[in-house]
Amino acid sequence: MRPAGTEISEEALERDIKQVGTELHASFPSALRHPMRTVDTRAMEMASSDRELRAALFRFVDVVPACRSLDDVARHLSDFLDEVPDVPMPLEAAMRMANTKAGRATLGAAAARGVRHIAHRFIVGETPKEALGVLSHLWSRGVGSSVDLLGEATVTDAEANRYAQRCAGALEELADAVRRWPARSRLERDSSGTLPRANLSVKVSALTPLLRPDAPELGKRDAATRLRPLLAAARDLGAHIHIDMESLDSREAVLDLVLELLSEPEFAEGLSAGVVLQAYLRDSPSQLDQILDWASTRPRTSPPQVRLVKGAYWDHELVQARQQGWPAPVFEVKTECDRNFEALTRRLLEARPAVRVAVASHNLRSVAHAIAYNRLLGAADTELELQVLRGLGDELQDALARRGFRVRTYCPVGDLVAGMAYLVRRLLENTSNESFLHEQARNAPLETLLAAP
Ligand SMILES: Cc1cc2nc3c(=O)[nH]c(=O)nc-3n(C[C@H](O)[C@H](O)[C@H](O)COP(=O)(O)OP(=O)(O)OC[C@H]3O[C@@H](n4cnc5c(N)ncnc54)[C@H](O)[C@@H]3O)c2cc1C
Repeated sequence: MRPAGTEISEEALERDIKQVGTELHASFPSALRHPMRTVDTRAMEMASSDRELRAALFRFVDVVPACRSLDDVARHLSDFLDEVPDVPMPLEAAMRMANTKAGRATLGAAAARGVRHIAHRFIVGETPKEALGVLSHLWSRGVGSSVDLLGEATVTDAEANRYAQRCAGALEELADAVRRWPARSRLERDSSGTLPRANLSVKVSALTPLLRPDAPELGKRDAATRLRPLLAAARDLGAHIHIDMESLDSREAVLDLVLELLSEPEFAEGLSAGVVLQAYLRDSPSQLDQILDWASTRPRTSPPQVRLVKGAYWDHELVQARQQGWPAPVFEVKTECDRNFEALTRRLLEARPAVRVAVASHNLRSVAHAIAYNRLLGAADTELELQVLRGLGDELQDALARRGFRVRTYCPVGDLVAGMAYLVRRLLENTSNESFLHEQARNAPLETLLAAP
C-alpha cells in the first residue's frame, strides 16, 4: 500500500476513473442477450415517466399476492388505473378488457404473470434449497453471493423465532452446498485470509418485535438472544454473516448491538461478520469514526467487513422528518450524497487492514471511483469487494466478473408475498429520476455517467 500521508492527485484519480469506467462499460453484456430485460426496462421506463401511474402501479404490485383469483387481480388493476388521469394507450386497452368477466380473467392472468416475472428478476427462489442452483451458477461464473431471507416487519415473538430458524437452516444448507463448488481463488482469499463461500445477510428488525427508537435497550436485548446463536452457527460452519442496516430509527440500536456482540470473547476469533454504512445520512462520517475506532482497538483474525451503500430508505426518511418537523437526516441533493459516498469510500480503503471493504452500488462512477482509488493506493483489485443487487446490477456484475474483480450479488430468497415490500423498494429505486440506473437506461452519454459529482 502507498505510505500514509502521500497525496493522490485529483487529476490522476479522475483520469483513472474515466479509464476504469470506460473499460467496464465496454464489458457490459449486450442488451440483445437479455431480450426480456429490455421489455422489463421499457415497462419500468413507462412507469417512471408519470408520477400518478407510478404510484398506482406500486399500489397494484402491493396487493397482487393477496389476490384470491385472476378476476380479483384484474379488478384491482383496473381500479388503480382508474385513479390515473392520463393512462398510456396499452393500459387503456387493459382497462377496457376489465369490463367483462372473460376479459378480466385474461387480463388477471397476464397481470399476475407480469408481477411474477418482475419478482423473479429480483428474487432467486422461494427457499434456500431452491436458490442453490442460481447461487452455484453465479459462483461458477466467478460471482459470489449473499443470501437475504425475505420477510419484513416482525410483530410477534413467534415470527422472530421463525425468521431466526430460517436463518439457521439457510446457514446449514449453504455451508453444506458450497463444499461442492469448484475453487475460485479470487472469491475466496484476500491478504487478510480466507473469505467464506457461504454468506448470509440478516435484518435485526426481523429478529425481534421490540426494536423501537424509544426503548433501544429492550430491542437490542431481545434481538441478541436470537442473533448470538446465529453468529455462533456462522462461526462453526465457516460462513459469513452480514447485518443489514434499515431505517434511521433503528440504526443506533443495530450498530451498537453488532459491535457489542462481536466484542464478546466467543466471537473475537474465527467469525467473519460485517455491518453496513449508509452514505445518504448526513452524519455517516461520524458513524464511520465509531466503526473504525472500534475495529482498530479490537483487531480480529477476520476483520469486520464494512459494506458501503447509499441507502434504501431515502423517501421514508424524508417523509418521516417532514412529518415530525425535524431537519432531514439524509442529503437532499443527489450529488452531495454521491460526494459523501466517494469520501467514505476513500476513508474505508485507507483504513484497511482493520476492516474489509465492500462497495455496494450500481452506479458506474461510484464503482469506478472505488477501483481507481484502490489502485492508486497501490492495493490489488482483490483487496476490494464490489457488491450488487440481483436484478438491478446484473450487467455490472457480469462486467466486473469478466474484468476479474471480486464481485458479490445480494440474492433475496422468499415467496412473493414476503417479497412485496422488497420488490416495491427495488421498483422505486429503478424508476426514480435521480437514479443512476434510470440515467443509464435513458442512454445518457458515458461522459455524463462518469462525471465527478
Ligand atoms: C449488496 C447490496 C446490499 C445493500 N444493503 C443495504 C442495506 O443494508 N441497507 C440499505 O439501506 N441499503 C442497502 N442497499 C441498497 C442501496 O442502498 C441502494 O441499492 C442504493 O442506494 C442505490 O444506490 P446506487 O449507488 O446503486 O445508485 P445511485 O443511483 O447512484 O443512487 C441512488 C441512491 O441515492 C440516494 N438518493 C436518491 N435521491 C437523492 C437525493 N435527491 N438526494 C440525496 N440522495 C439521494 C438514495 O440513497 C438512492 O437509493 C444495498 C445494496 C446492495 C447493492
